[in-house]
Amino acid sequence: MFNVSDLKLDGRALIDGKRVQGAAVFSKTSPVDGRVLCEVTRGGEAEIDLAVTAARAAFEDARWRGLAPAQRKRVLVKFSDLLLAHADELALTETLDMGKPVRYARAVDVNSAANCIRWYGEAVDKVYDEIAPTGKSSLALITREPVGVVGVIVPWNYPMIMAAWKIAPALAAGNSIVLKPSEKSPLTALRLAELALEAGIPPGVFNVVPGFGQEAGEPLALHMDVDCIAFTGSTKVGKRIHVMAGLSNLKRAWTELGGKSPNIVFADCPDLDRAVEAAVGSVFFNQGESCNAPSRLLVEASIKDKFLEKALALVPRYAPANPLLPDTIMGALVDKTQMDTVLGYIAAGQSEGAKLIAGGAQVMGDTGGFYVEPTIFDGVTNRMRIAQEEIFGPVLSVLSFTDAAEAVRMANDSIYGLQAAVWTSDINKAHGVARALKAGTVHVNQYDEDDITVPFGGVKQSGVGRDKSLHAFDKYTELKTTWIRIDSPL
Ligand code: NAD
Repeated sequence: MFNVSDLKLDGRALIDGKRVQGAAVFSKTSPVDGRVLCEVTRGGEAEIDLAVTAARAAFEDARWRGLAPAQRKRVLVKFSDLLLAHADELALTETLDMGKPVRYARAVDVNSAANCIRWYGEAVDKVYDEIAPTGKSSLALITREPVGVVGVIVPWNYPMIMAAWKIAPALAAGNSIVLKPSEKSPLTALRLAELALEAGIPPGVFNVVPGFGQEAGEPLALHMDVDCIAFTGSTKVGKRIHVMAGLSNLKRAWTELGGKSPNIVFADCPDLDRAVEAAVGSVFFNQGESCNAPSRLLVEASIKDKFLEKALALVPRYAPANPLLPDTIMGALVDKTQMDTVLGYIAAGQSEGAKLIAGGAQVMGDTGGFYVEPTIFDGVTNRMRIAQEEIFGPVLSVLSFTDAAEAVRMANDSIYGLQAAVWTSDINKAHGVARALKAGTVHVNQYDEDDITVPFGGVKQSGVGRDKSLHAFDKYTELKTTWIRIDSPL
């Protein structure tokens, strides 16, 4: 049994296989209760440059990319095993760092990250290159090559999973990495890099530099020797990432951004109780800090009252509690800034005329942590800010519609297009609506089904590119064509 008192937190950067203090540090506090966790390297241009230089050297001398795919597989499988061997430690660190319930940090975050690393390790010696169907006087090989040095910038809501979705395919393909975790949740990323070394990933291949966005993220995105930048975060910063890629060396830029996912429930929904459980459970999971949270609930007007009655009955289940306790399912928001943002949106919803029917307030303030009640607004219209803007907290906006065309029009009336759902017993309606929805993923009669085998990402301002599945290799490899002349009389 691993306890908080057993944790030895180390916030120093990890560059070229060694811990590096860096020129400056910041104090990392916990959103659970405000306690100081440790000092963390406040990376800047110098530390980013050091890490990129180490990653470039590792890439050029081929200490990792030069290994046969089956050898990289063995190391990545060991890396995955090490995550599982340290699951309790990693889960506790994640909870203290960003406030999510430890039961989910253990069961979801550690397991998903480990599974992702194993899956790409297992995959890499099973994908083949191509030979083009050209004439017999030549042979045209189409091969995939690693891009080179990959900069990775991730957010704080699923720190290990977001990192794994990028580092696993990038490492499997043979790239070198400089990862900048969020300043709000840097600790598990640093531990992952240590475990990678222990598994046999050579020094310099996987570097981690913690720090703030403008101080460490920008030098990474602007760096002339970084070949690809893989970003997950807000749409606002994602746009800047594409600009920085263009202003520097035209590095490949991939962005997984925000969402305001519509969840459409028709009156002929096959199982109303399941729909209610999914609507409430998915929007409050991870304190509502999920990019794909179904935060816009569109219910057919004829069943709205019945639906909301059932939804309100579930709300007490999600009352916030100390996330270090094993039964807690709603923990702390990541910090005071995020809590104030969420409370600000709740105030905006009220002033714009939406009806607050559950929650709406900060709770557990005496703990020194940042907790907000699960909150539901009825009577929302699509022009309100709480229908259009990503809140990233436990707030559900409920709208109603009268027919499928209106539901689709409202659902698509958004700058985002990450996920969507439709609940109906009518197979034709399900297909028609799913096809009409502008989203990277559409769920039918369920929400939040997830598997490493399927692509994840959005359309419109939800970003560019896809994480997960074999398609993620497209981000971290370049196609090369090699023409070989064949002079043969046969
Ligand atoms: P954020 O954009 O504020 O920060 C994300 C990362 O970018 C952090 O590491 C931050 O330090 C860094 N950053 C900030 N400013 C930067 C700059 N100028 N240059 C370079 N880097 C910079 O987002 P956040 O608040 O950490 O995360 C929440 C957002 O992430 C939400 O919008 C959420 O929807 C999105 N998200 C998307 C997905 C997805 O797969 N689509 C998954 C998880 C989270």
